[in-house]
Amino acid sequence: MQVPAHVEYERATSVEHALSLLSRPETRVVAGGHSLIPMMKLRLAQPELLVDINGLAELAFIAKDGDQLRIGALARHADLLDSAVAGKCFPIFHDAERVVADPIVRLWGTVGGSLCQADPSEDLSAAFAAARATAVIKTPGGERTVPVREFHLGPYETVIGRGELLAEIRVPVKPGTGSAYEKVSRRVGDWSIAAAGAVLRLNGEKIEEAGIGLTAVGAEHFVAAEAEDYLRGRPADQDTFTQAAKIAAEHCHPAADQRGPEDFKRHLVAELTTRALRRAAGRAAP
Ligand SMILES: Cc1cc2nc3c(=O)[nH]c(=O)nc-3n(C[C@H](O)[C@H](O)[C@H](O)COP(=O)(O)OP(=O)(O)OC[C@H]3O[C@@H](n4cnc5c(N)ncnc54)[C@H](O)[C@@H]3O)c2cc1C
Repeated sequence: MQVPAHVEYERATSVEHALSLLSRPETRVVAGGHSLIPMMKLRLAQPELLVDINGLAELAFIAKDGDQLRIGALARHADLLDSAVAGKCFPIFHDAERVVADPIVRLWGTVGGSLCQADPSEDLSAAFAAARATAVIKTPGGERTVPVREFHLGPYETVIGRGELLAEIRVPVKPGTGSAYEKVSRRVGDWSIAAAGAVLRLNGEKIEEAGIGLTAVGAEHFVAAEAEDYLRGRPADQDTFTQAAKIAAEHCHPAADQRGPEDFKRHLVAELTTRALRRAAGRAAP
């Protein structure tokens, strides 16, 4: 199939307008369209109405606001990669964006679309999970917030309901934090075979808080929770990182596919988690 089925199209002029259109059944938001349009061509998605949110400039921002980094759902991958404030607070986002697809996808694909697509191989889902971000969802009655760690219900499924719109992602900025993302793919611009993101908050040499996100390896909510528990309160050194990475590799659920067998993916998780933790610790400024 190369041509999507017949679909109605409306261009939203405001968030309120988008929400009212989204209250209709079988309606989907289109942002960058890099995931949705191919799925429509393959008849994996067959909405009756597309609500185009590309005119909603109020959703296309990246800013530090007090102790939070705020990223609008319509910020493009390229905007996040170009954002100095995002790179300063969370180098993990720049690491991840450098390896998301290619420049064409990054120019048009959006941060919100990445999260809402809920593809198990989406790099930003793991990066935001590691950073303990919160999703802000506009609803017919106002708005609600959901931790990114609870946002994905499974592959291609999120908590966003009918008549709702992801508006922004908020990430807590805390002193003493460093972060990094490491990915291995078959070729430049490809999806992950496996990837790992780490966010560490240090107090001297001690780990106060740890976030580990895993991509494409069947980690529940993209998180390596057992490894995070192990890290808390321990010294930020190579032995600790190696052991935590081993725990992360043991507890994820990679599936054998054209990108490699299960044991190879577990090996990658251990290696990439170690590297991400080491780089995150090196970047943690007091
Ligand atoms: C060739 C190619 C290679 C790629 N490689 C990678 C890669 O290596 N790593 C990676 O992480 N990603 C990769 N991607 C995926 C890319 O990052 C995502 O497709 C893209 O960013 C999704 O964003 P979008 O704006 O295009 O979403 P769309 O396709 O417009 O939408 C995707 C889904 O999200 C919903 N949606 C979008 N915005 C909202 C919103 N604000 N509120 C509620 N629902 C919303 C839509 O209804 C749809 O269901 C690749 C894509 C392509 C085409």
